[in-house]
Amino acid sequence: MAKKSLVALAKGTDIQENVTRVFDLMGGVTNVIRKGSIVVLKPNAGHAEPPETSVCTNPEVVRAVVREVKKAEPKKIIIAEAAAIGCDTLECFKVSGIEAVANEEGVELKDIKRDQDLVNVAVRGFRSNIDHLKLPRFLMEADHLINLPILKAHASMVFSGALKNIKGVVQDKVHMQMHQQNLTMAMMDVWSACRADINIMDAMHAASGYSPHMPVPIDTNMVLGSKDPVAIDRVACEVTGIDTTCVDYFRVAAETGLGNYDMDQIDVVGNTIEECYKKMWIPYIGDMSTRWPEYDVKCEGACSSCQALLAINMEELKAVDEYDKNAGMTIVIGGKNEIPKDIPDGKIVLHGNCTKKYLKDHPNAYWILGCPPNEPALYLTVQRKEVINGMGDQEEEIIRPCMARDAAVWREYVFKAADKYYEEHPDEKA
Ligand code: SF4
Repeated sequence: MAKKSLVALAKGTDIQENVTRVFDLMGGVTNVIRKGSIVVLKPNAGHAEPPETSVCTNPEVVRAVVREVKKAEPKKIIIAEAAAIGCDTLECFKVSGIEAVANEEGVELKDIKRDQDLVNVAVRGFRSNIDHLKLPRFLMEADHLINLPILKAHASMVFSGALKNIKGVVQDKVHMQMHQQNLTMAMMDVWSACRADINIMDAMHAASGYSPHMPVPIDTNMVLGSKDPVAIDRVACEVTGIDTTCVDYFRVAAETGLGNYDMDQIDVVGNTIEECYKKMWIPYIGDMSTRWPEYDVKCEGACSSCQALLAINMEELKAVDEYDKNAGMTIVIGGKNEIPKDIPDGKIVLHGNCTKKYLKDHPNAYWILGCPPNEPALYLTVQRKEVINGMGDQEEEIIRPCMARDAAVWREYVFKAADKYYEEHPDEKA
């Protein structure tokens, strides 16, 4: 029988108390961090968004972890990140408030994207086509890597926690490569090459709604800790009411041997799941085939990632007033669909690598590559009647300007939807 994984749960509004308690429940910081060691903290600072948006790890959680780790008298603490494609890590550190914390606490900040001293690391038993990774030497030589994700709903993955956050240790070239194939497998391959030994999850103000681009923060007031990234993600789902059967990557992660998924293989210590329970609004879960009856949505065989992307993109079409104008189009996600031959190619959008095969009968349909594709690719393709998949210069020239243009109406739309949801579910309101 596999060894049980321990997940520490601490609930309360005092961040430092929560973080200290979580380390204590994991055996005490002086037992989990070696004196004189080099410790790298990997927060989520992937976008230039301020703390109140819950896009990045709360800087006060980062500070609390730094202060806790200092008790173990490490030689050095480094905060490191490679921001999302097209984002400047240093700007993300600044806007997220993490730069100020690093300066005040006297710890070093490192932008993985700018790091030149890389080592080639083989990925044993790789599942995607990533058989080796170039990773920063400082990361590979660190004694401890503390993964510091924020809990959030996520358009490409349904939800994002410890497993997804480690994706941010690679530079843009690999990041791009990961998005062009099976992202879940690629994420697991990154974990195989670069495994965090401790995961501390910021769930103080988890991001519900159409996160990561338009999150609706809620007061979850928790910090979680574990050495097992699968177990901590599983417990995070349990405390926020996320149906884990709707998150495909758990199965892959458990199969890869990264950690325990089954609750009977996990010991929750500290506060109980019941004491911490706070349901998150995650609109990426549910029946996608009937949700937009004005469109012909075919989604047989679709992974949870593409279902989540379908949800955000269809709602974004509504927000920018393009939904009705394009009604009647056929949207295809997943590889188990039948597409009648009499549907004109110009009315069909094929979303994702597994839909490429339908080009055989519909060679001029709009095929968006990626597994899953770029987050706003679907709504932009429908709106512009040209394939927008983020390849080449599209990210800089089309995707970012369009997202900036649409941000205000999308924000208004999402917050109205949140108000409506919480009116209908008053017991879940923060
Ligand atoms: S492109 Fe296909 S295989 Fe890839 S995530 Fe989407 S549905 Fe799954």
